[in-house]
Amino acid sequence: MVVNIDNLKRQDPKLAILLGKELEKQKNTVNLIASENYTSLPVLEATASVLTNKYSEGYPRARYYEGNEYIDEIEQLAIDRAKKLFGADHANVQALSGSPANMAVYMALLNLGDKTMAMNLDQGGHLTHGSKVSFSGKWYNFVHYSLSKETEMLDMDEIRKLAIKEKPKLIVCGASAYPRKIDFKAFRDIANEVGAYLVADIAHIAGLIAAEEHINSVPYADITTSTTQKTLRGPRSGLILCKEEYAKKVDSAVFPGISGGPHEHIIAAKAVAFKEAMQPEFKDYQRQVVENAKVLAQNLKDKGFRLISGGTDTHLVLVDLTNKGITGKQASEALIRANIIVNMNMIPFDKRTPRDPSGIRLGTPALTTRGFKDEEIAAVAEGIDIVLSNMNNNKKIEKVKEDIIDLCKKFPIYPELNYEGR
Ligand SMILES: *Cc1c(COP(=O)(O)O)cnc(C)c1O
Repeated sequence: MVVNIDNLKRQDPKLAILLGKELEKQKNTVNLIASENYTSLPVLEATASVLTNKYSEGYPRARYYEGNEYIDEIEQLAIDRAKKLFGADHANVQALSGSPANMAVYMALLNLGDKTMAMNLDQGGHLTHGSKVSFSGKWYNFVHYSLSKETEMLDMDEIRKLAIKEKPKLIVCGASAYPRKIDFKAFRDIANEVGAYLVADIAHIAGLIAAEEHINSVPYADITTSTTQKTLRGPRSGLILCKEEYAKKVDSAVFPGISGGPHEHIIAAKAVAFKEAMQPEFKDYQRQVVENAKVLAQNLKDKGFRLISGGTDTHLVLVDLTNKGITGKQASEALIRANIIVNMNMIPFDKRTPRDPSGIRLGTPALTTRGFKDEEIAAVAEGIDIVLSNMNNNKKIEKVKEDIIDLCKKFPIYPELNYEGR
């Protein structure tokens, strides 16, 4: 079965047309958003399945609703696969996304107002790591560590000093815009020294970890949280992994703590994604993701772009555009005109604002799923350079757009899907 929308076209043409436009756009855009990816068709099929009909509050074999015998098996499959994939004692697969996963973990370990330490948002952390506009910053007392000004990397000595000074109850490690590896063992040592819990948020790098392209947080962190839609290439959802001693607290925090009925269609899709992540091809894919990021970084450096921390050893590259005389917002708006989609992003110690920051964040997971390798990545870097050097030249940007669309057609996504009008 391929998940088409023939019935939707008849019943709700207005919506079907919009879905069709979105699919076309996804097909014809070079997607460098580091947090996005394209799921497999099996993941899409599970997502679109009848499991969306079922209520199953509770956990496998302990539900508040009848008729969950198959749902139990499906959720148990997802749990068992998640545990195996990451080597975890316990997995909760009900968290609805990365942010609610973090919310549940804070609820499991902290009281309101407790001191918690995490990475600054403008240094690459996440909203749920104590930003004032998020529940995390409103409900808990966050103190933030920064990157080293000199290396633009995590400085474990400085983080240790801050932890000793602040004595947080919980330390969060993990980031949304950090291009380097994270030393989970060093974070564990600091947490031990100050008697803090350690939570690793691997939302961005879960796929790299599953494929052993990055060290695993699970042996070091008390609790690991993740999304499943980023490098892991599953459906849009969350995952919590922990040591057995936290299992009950985590499960209770997710349900009934912060949510009601689990989304079992998405849980099934996660089970599919976890299975895919155990295959040898997934290892090859992640190796290529990292290789492509390195190639992208080198090509951009050769064109005079300044990269935060000087490069990457993950799936993403953070570019400081200051020396090019343009802002992140100007850059992302120019690039989309050439069907190249990127995020504008704050850079460490940014003097500009989140709405118009100094940088852009580029990631390779989606392009690598398309099948892009060195040659195509070099072409993308070339396109980025031409657009950003000719922001007022429509003709040049139009030409890049044509080349980008050609490249997309040579490496199609979802050729089986047809959302086109009748
Ligand atoms: C993406 C992300 C999240 C949140 O995930 P959502 O699914 O968008 O809620 C949490 N933490 C980090 C580090 C992330 O990058």
